[in-house]
Amino acid sequence: MKRFVYADNAATTKISDSVFQSMVPFLTEQYGNASSLYSLARESRRAVEAAREKVAKTLGAESREIYFTSCGTESDNWALKGTALAMGAKGKKHIVTTAFEHHAILHTCQALEKQGFEVTYLPVEPNGILSLDKLRAAIRPDTALVSVMYANNEIGTIQPIPEIGAICKEKGVLFHTDAVQAVGSLHINVKEQNIDMLSLSAHKLHGPKGVGALYLRKGIRIPNLIDGGAQEMGKRAGTENNAYIVGLGTAIEEATALIEEKTPKLIAMRDRLIENLLKIPHTRLNGDPVKRLPGNVNISFEGIEGESLLLMLDMQGICASSGSACTSGSLDPSHVLLAIGLPHEVAHGSLRLSLSDMNTEEDVDYILQVLPPIVERLRSMSPLWERIRQQG
Ligand code: PLP
Repeated sequence: MKRFVYADNAATTKISDSVFQSMVPFLTEQYGNASSLYSLARESRRAVEAAREKVAKTLGAESREIYFTSCGTESDNWALKGTALAMGAKGKKHIVTTAFEHHAILHTCQALEKQGFEVTYLPVEPNGILSLDKLRAAIRPDTALVSVMYANNEIGTIQPIPEIGAICKEKGVLFHTDAVQAVGSLHINVKEQNIDMLSLSAHKLHGPKGVGALYLRKGIRIPNLIDGGAQEMGKRAGTENNAYIVGLGTAIEEATALIEEKTPKLIAMRDRLIENLLKIPHTRLNGDPVKRLPGNVNISFEGIEGESLLLMLDMQGICASSGSACTSGSLDPSHVLLAIGLPHEVAHGSLRLSLSDMNTEEDVDYILQVLPPIVERLRSMSPLWERIRQQG
């Protein structure tokens, strides 16, 4: 029987009922501007600050180190452009990042290169993990910032963040991590892990789209990305998006509180998918089998096009992705899969299934029932597959 299975939680997640309920008052009766002085507004201010506390607590940070933004992309832009401007003025115009970051980082780095900054894009190892030796070797006296994502959005690999933080601290270089995929799935402590700046986004953890946050360690001074009023401690202007900020607070608190309970269930579902899908001949798992997000499955099926696979899965009610959601619609092979050394044609046949705690074992059963015959059908129509088969 056909069912609907949402397995694209790395692209975005369904807003949870409790998150939605917590937002409703601030979309209806509690419409006060958090910066005004009467009691209606004071309730908005209280709610915004309570949400800030929740974000800070999740990260092991202080409330005054949390700045609300409009999304993960904005947080990434602010961290990188702000640091570049501040440190560039001191003659430090070199940035180190990896080749498989999200475009929110890569395109920001490219924009900075046009402004005279130099960026080193470190390769990652075939398992999708950054080599600490390569990182250490890349840091120079004029390096201003290292930016390495906490967990990759396509292949789910989790980077050795505490070790990277320790290297940056030892070398006196600022460390930013794009933790958009990690927050709510992994325990994070910015102080213990030597993280100076961290980006996050609500819509990846059953919160609303269009709200995020930047953790900025106290003492770090970066220029504003948006100038105007005195909101967000004078650093990020614009009337607070109260309802969405409250939604982020609820979502991050809930997602983090559930980590212990949901992780073993997600890992069991993830590994059942991986184990069974790898039984299909000429398939490979992308990314490290263990150091990966609990809900991430990324498999390449040789001889087929990921886009055709997605369309056929959609016809069966399954939502998945063939690469980064932000680049779907483009037929270029994923830069992440190329960065771990996949040939173009194999990268093209990749599928990402990303599960959340809203998925069930029945969803996994259904995917395992529907997906293998689709792969077989597509391969039977593919001239490429005939060649692969003959080569053995
Ligand atoms: N960074 C990573 C790793 C992501 O996965 C995403 C979203 O896909 C972003 C940044 C951008 O976040 P937002 O959609 O909130 O701008």
